[in-house]
Amino acid sequence: MALRAAVVGGGLGGLAAALFLRDAGLDVRVYEQMSEHRELGAGIVVAPNMVRPLARLGLAGRLPGFAVRLEAAWEIRRWEDGRVLSSQPMGEACLAMYGAHCYVAHRADLLGLFLSAWPADRLHLGHRCTGLTQHEAGVELNFVRDDGSTAQDEADVVVGADGIHSALRPFVAPEQAPRFSGLCAFRCLVPAADAPAMALRPVQTLWLGPQRHFVHYPISAGSLVNVVAIVPAGDWRDESWTAEGDIGDLMREFDGWDGRLHQLIASARQTRRWALFDREPIPSYAQGRVALLGDAAHPMLPFFAQGSAQAVEDAVVLAACLRGAGRGDAATALQRYDALRRPRASRVQTMSRGREVRNHLPDGPLQRERDAQFASGAPLRDSAWLYGHDVTTDCD
Ligand SMILES: Cc1cc2nc3c(=O)[nH]c(=O)nc-3n(C[C@H](O)[C@H](O)[C@H](O)COP(=O)(O)OP(=O)(O)OC[C@H]3O[C@@H](n4cnc5c(N)ncnc54)[C@H](O)[C@@H]3O)c2cc1C
Repeated sequence: MALRAAVVGGGLGGLAAALFLRDAGLDVRVYEQMSEHRELGAGIVVAPNMVRPLARLGLAGRLPGFAVRLEAAWEIRRWEDGRVLSSQPMGEACLAMYGAHCYVAHRADLLGLFLSAWPADRLHLGHRCTGLTQHEAGVELNFVRDDGSTAQDEADVVVGADGIHSALRPFVAPEQAPRFSGLCAFRCLVPAADAPAMALRPVQTLWLGPQRHFVHYPISAGSLVNVVAIVPAGDWRDESWTAEGDIGDLMREFDGWDGRLHQLIASARQTRRWALFDREPIPSYAQGRVALLGDAAHPMLPFFAQGSAQAVEDAVVLAACLRGAGRGDAATALQRYDALRRPRASRVQTMSRGREVRNHLPDGPLQRERDAQFASGAPLRDSAWLYGHDVTTDCD
């Protein structure tokens, strides 16, 4: 009989896990607390190390239908006048180096792609996992449904893909207090028709200035421009993807910056504001028959734009470890998953921190030195460890 897997969390990580585990022959069910998949979130970078696994699922060919293929990235501009400090051609260069293009997409569109490949009767919406009990022979899971009623399930393995505020993490790793970074992110979606022409190019652009930076790129087949602005948080402490911010506050953060950014901000109808907390890598991603994946395992600051790509890499490796495993060796397979994934994901998690200092240098000699390094850098080539790594070879 196929191993029964319960995946808790129907985000990008949970659905990727479900798809790869099914591919590996497991009997999979997904439990998601939300009662429907709403259009939540904004732009996400679909890096080559995510595109290649999607190609294995037969899904990568549909990315050009909604995502924007980046023709340039790391286009770094000076805050007050937009002077280009560096730019990296992507397009064919990325394909030649890493066997895949790099895209930017709306999170909801990407989720829609994953959902289109997953049967609705194996996705239990409106089921919030409240806890679990491990027995020698399996795991019992408890849920609260939307209407307040309760439900249970039994599984041979459980995947905690329930995001940054994971309810399953305490069953796997000791609790740890997040460290407040002192920063927050404003995020907006601007209709392309209202945005300055510069923001419509298939380019990921970063504007750097003292204490803050501003990123934009087009998504949703070019119909929207995704904006992320990282600024000092003040007294904002809400670590939520859905908390509302104020466009006037965002505008004031960029007083004195290039006027094209003001035009972009002024065209936004709404902004979300998200306080950035940092967390140390946890000591294990697996305990008995329960494994963590994605943000539940390694929540990271957004400076490497690798949250979803690392979740997909987890899914590939988890499925490879569980392929062919029986009930008796499921826990051993999860230990192997932990050993294979934790070093790499922890590295990305830790490296995602360093950028904040470099990106936010005040005007002066250190900033000039940094800008000279940008001008002579080769960020696409230097990303080989991240974009070029084939996680399937880890499992051989
Ligand atoms: C609403 C939302 C908006 C986001 N917007 C962006 C964005 O604009 N840009 C970006 O780079 N990243 C965004 N992210 C984060 C990004 O999706 C993740 O960093 C990355 O994709 C890893 O995904 P994940 O599946 O591990 O976690 P998540 O994407 O956080 O998914 C976790 C899922 O688990 C569900 N869940 C949580 N607790 C329970 C429970 N107890 N029982 C059942 N289900 C549960 C959640 O509802 C969610 O669907 C967003 C995440 C969310 C949830």
